[in-house]
Amino acid sequence: MTAYDDQNIFAKILRDEIPSFKVYEDDETLCFMDIMPRTDGHCLVIPKMPCRNVLDASDAQLAAVMATVKKVANAAKVAFAADGITLQQFNETAGGQEVFHLHFHIHPRHAGLPMRPAGQMGDMDAIKGHAAAIAAAL
Ligand code: AMP
Repeated sequence: MTAYDDQNIFAKILRDEIPSFKVYEDDETLCFMDIMPRTDGHCLVIPKMPCRNVLDASDAQLAAVMATVKKVANAAKVAFAADGITLQQFNETAGGQEVFHLHFHIHPRHAGLPMRPAGQMGDMDAIKGHAAAIAAAL
């Protein structure tokens, strides 16, 4: 497997070299908002220790990340009065991965409402508000 590149954008977010809308963090994980949200409340959970994706993650990293995914997913469901939650996670380029630091997408979902297309920059004020709404529900 390709080596971890510590210049990836999420490594820079972890080092506070670029801004992010943080939702939650603990010793092992960070949750922040996706800036190209495919749903209102679309956020990402990452481990603080480096790994590219599920394929090279340690069992401990996966356990910590999934505990945070569950915690934030329940909070997001409440914050957005969602009917359900979609999780997405991609591994390597052929698997759809674009940023090579392990992350899980959390999407609050409402019955009959499709996700928006990928790659569309969101409204930063709205994203900031969505981060605050999830944090308040935690
Ligand atoms: P993927 O690796 O396919 O899961 O996609 C990476 C995700 O990271 C996409 O949903 C992007 O919108 C998101 N993304 C890229 N740059 C940033 C950033 N600076 N802050 C937050 N999310 C980002």
